[in-house]
Order: sequence, then structure tokens, then C-alpha cells
Amino acid sequence: MLCSPACIGIRRSYIGDECLYTRKIASINRWASSSIQNYKTLPARRLLPMNFAYSPKVQELRERVQAFMDAHVYPAEKVFYQQVAEGDRWQPTAIVEELKAKAKAEGLWNLFLPESELGAGLTNTEYAPLAEIMGSSGLGPEAFNCSAPDTGNMEVLVRYGSEAQKREWLEPLLRGEIRSAFGMTEPGVASSDATNMEARAVREGDEWVINGRKWWTSGACDPRCKIMIFMGLTNPDAPRHAQHSMILVPMDTPGVKVLRPLPVFGYDDAPHGHAEVLLENVRVPYENVILGEGRGFEIAQGRLGPGRIHHCMRSIGVAERALKLMCERAVSRTAFGKPLARLGANFDHIAECRIEINMARLLTLNAAYMMDTVGNKIAASEIAQIKVVAPNVALKVIDRAIQIHGGAGVSEDFPLAHWWAMQRTLRLADGPDEVHRVAIARHELGKYVPREALRSR
Ligand SMILES: Cc1cc2nc3c(=O)[nH]c(=O)nc-3n(C[C@H](O)[C@H](O)[C@H](O)COP(=O)(O)OP(=O)(O)OC[C@H]3O[C@@H](n4cnc5c(N)ncnc54)[C@H](O)[C@@H]3O)c2cc1C
Repeated sequence: MLCSPACIGIRRSYIGDECLYTRKIASINRWASSSIQNYKTLPARRLLPMNFAYSPKVQELRERVQAFMDAHVYPAEKVFYQQVAEGDRWQPTAIVEELKAKAKAEGLWNLFLPESELGAGLTNTEYAPLAEIMGSSGLGPEAFNCSAPDTGNMEVLVRYGSEAQKREWLEPLLRGEIRSAFGMTEPGVASSDATNMEARAVREGDEWVINGRKWWTSGACDPRCKIMIFMGLTNPDAPRHAQHSMILVPMDTPGVKVLRPLPVFGYDDAPHGHAEVLLENVRVPYENVILGEGRGFEIAQGRLGPGRIHHCMRSIGVAERALKLMCERAVSRTAFGKPLARLGANFDHIAECRIEINMARLLTLNAAYMMDTVGNKIAASEIAQIKVVAPNVALKVIDRAIQIHGGAGVSEDFPLAHWWAMQRTLRLADGPDEVHRVAIARHELGKYVPREALRSR
């Protein structure tokens, strides 16, 4: 279903109107089942024409999002770091809450939900250019309630959550009142192979009893983080991809302990943070399982598609802003009697940045388009391709921008060093590059040999 900008108006009236919301939840379910039917009846992949032009609706939203970034988000960046430094680092900042209120009032809220009346009714292809603009600042995604890991988690609840789960957790997430975490990775096992997950959830009567240790649980340090989607081992005797389940674990459940934030190259990312979390005899109701017992991998396939591509869209925004800083510096600073731009191979470096960003953007749009037309499962190779390309391109662009800034590039006076650190983690988070390359190669080789011959075990 496609919605016009009028949808934004509907969503606005929903903020003060609970009844309208109930109606929307019902329609999400209709959307979820109809999109599965559409996917089954679509023609063979790659036969579909792809249109790169922004629709008038997307163009209008791009202008509004960019204007909001210029007027409110970029000027707030310094204030944010000051507030984090001056206050309790692990408390939410006033400036981000102000930005959220402003964006909500302008109807620039929850733009990410594809084809859902809870968002702006945008497809992934339509959302991509907006996420790029938001991603050009570390504050942008949260200001518009479009940040990780919440977007991926909200999509899980929209697609697979029960009515009660949606009421309890999706509604406050959509309102931006709480935040969430996704707990899959464990320190004790190689987590790029998700079948390794050892944290146990054992059924006892009408409860799950959970024990295990998770780490790199992004967002879990933030006191607004009220819910974790926990992925754990529920039946070691089941077939390999039916052994794990996703279970909703409220962060205030006795036995959930946030042990420490894990810094990334020294950046703690406060107040969001990436936490090590211990779960000791944590008891949650049996009905907190999402979709059903043993269906964790099924959900992971659905979740990681949108989550991954959102990261890529934001990476391109960061790369674009790094190139802007690079060009500004290159024409405004002089050495050996010339602007830096005219020295050595700097023309080439700037040109390479532009070429690589444009390639990555087109690949992102292609992956988004495949998700919209043939579904996340069939678009798996395209999603994997862009997940490899986008952070690597962003890293190369940022690195060149750092170089042209000289010492300033690695200082905290410019955002480049922090951006580099963040982008470097994306070559690991949501699956290391190598794992995605294996998936792409398997897809290609699968055209020539039976798929079973390509399985690792
Ligand atoms: C900043 C940050 C935020 C994160 N946020 C979250 C989060 O919110 N929730 C969450 O659950 N996890 C999160 N992660 C964890 C991330 O998803 C894992 O680190 C990642 O999946 C890799 O798992 P691992 O660290 O156990 O590496 P391992 O599985 O030990 O892999 C180590 C290395 O082995 C190599 N390797 C692995 N498989 C292959 C292969 N098939 N072929 C070739 N080489 C291979 C790769 O080089 C890989 O980097 C985050 C990580 C970071 C750094």
C-alpha cells in the first residue's frame, strides 16, 4: 500500500488520538499478510524495471528533512557533546529530547516503516534518500525516531509481534518514549555464526528461565532502553535452524545486569553505549516469545534485512558529509603556494570519493528496490552486497578526508575520527564482511551447482 503525504497528517492526529492507533495496528496485520502474498505472485527477479527518480512525495520529504537538519540537528551537535560531557554521561540529553519533539511536531517521525500506516507509508527505496540525510549526523536518526537498533526491532514487532506485544512495546517505541536493544552476540562464541548462540532459555511452566551473557548489546546502557529482543537457545535437539528463539526481555526484570559499556576505539557512545549484559535466572512469561518457539532464525532473516540496509543508507550520508568537509578544507587551506586541492593526487582522491559514493548509493537503491519488489529473502544477495560496500566506501572517503585535514583530521575538533571509528564497526556489526561475501558467492555459485553442495556443514 502506498500512502501520500496525507498519511503524515493522519499520523499526526494519531499522536493525541488512541482510537486511530488501534485501527492502524489492525491494518499493519493486513499489510504483513498481503506483502507475503504479493511476494509469492511477483514475476521473476531482475525482470522488474527500476526507476531511480525521486517521486514528488520523496522530493518534498527530502527538502523538509534537509531543512530540519540544517536548522536544528547540525547546530545541536556541539550542544549534545557538551551536555554529555557536563552531565551524567549515561543519562539522555535534553537537546536530543528537544529535537525529537520538534521533528514529531513537524510530522517527520517514524519515516522508516515500509508500507505501514504507522510511518509515512514509504517503501525502502523511498526511505533510502531520507535515511541518508538523517545519517549525516550522529543525532539525526534518533531525532526522527529512525535510529538503530530501534528501527529493526520495531519492524520485528510490526511483522511478527502478537497484539499484546505490539501494545506493550511497539506503541511506546513508535512514540519515542522508550528505546530497545537486540541481544544476539555472545562473548564466549563466534557470533558471526548465529547457530553458535549458547545463552539458554528453558521453559518452566508458563515462564522462560533465561541464563547467559550477551555483549555488544547496543543501546542497553541508556536508561530509556526498556526492552531487549533476546536471541537464545531453546531446543538444542531441534534441527540447526530451529534451535533458537527470540524472546522479549524487559530490562527491569530481576537478573538482567548491564555490566559495562564497551568502548569502540575509546569512544563510549554515551548515553547509548554498547553493553555487556548478564542474564541470571531471568524469568519472563512464556508468551514473550516472538512468533513462536524455534523461529528465531526466521525472524532474524526478516530483521537483519531492514536493519542492515538502514545502516548502509546512513553510511552514505556520513560519506557525503566527509567529502563536503574534505572539499571545503582542500580549497580553503594553502601549502607550497597552492590550495591543498591542487597538490599531489588530491584531485584524484576527491574524484574517487565522488565515484565511490555514487556507486554505493545506486547499489543501496538497488537493494532497497529488490526488498520492495521481491521481498527481503530473495533480495538477500543484494542486501549482503551493499552491507559490504557501504561501510568500506564510507571508510575510504573518511580516511581521505582525514588525510587532507592533517592533524586536525584525527582530533576531536572535527567529527572525522569519530565517524571513522563508527563506520569501522559496521564491517563487523550485523555480520562481518566475510560472512556477507560467502552469502553473495553462494548465491552466484548456486546458479551452477546444487545449493546443498555449497553448505559449510
Ligand atoms: C559497535 C558494535 C555494535 C554492535 N551491536 C550489536 C547489537 O546491538 N546486538 C548484537 O547482537 N550484536 C552487536 N554487535 C556484534 C556484532 O554483530 C558481532 O561482533 C559480529 O556478528 C561478529 O561476531 P564476533 O564478534 O563474535 O566475531 P567472530 O564470529 O568471532 O568472527 C571473527 C572474525 O572471523 C572472520 N570470519 C567469521 N566468519 C567467517 C567466514 N564465514 N569466512 C571468513 N571469515 C570469517 C571474520 O573476519 C570475523 O570478523 C555489535 C558489534 C559492534 C562492534
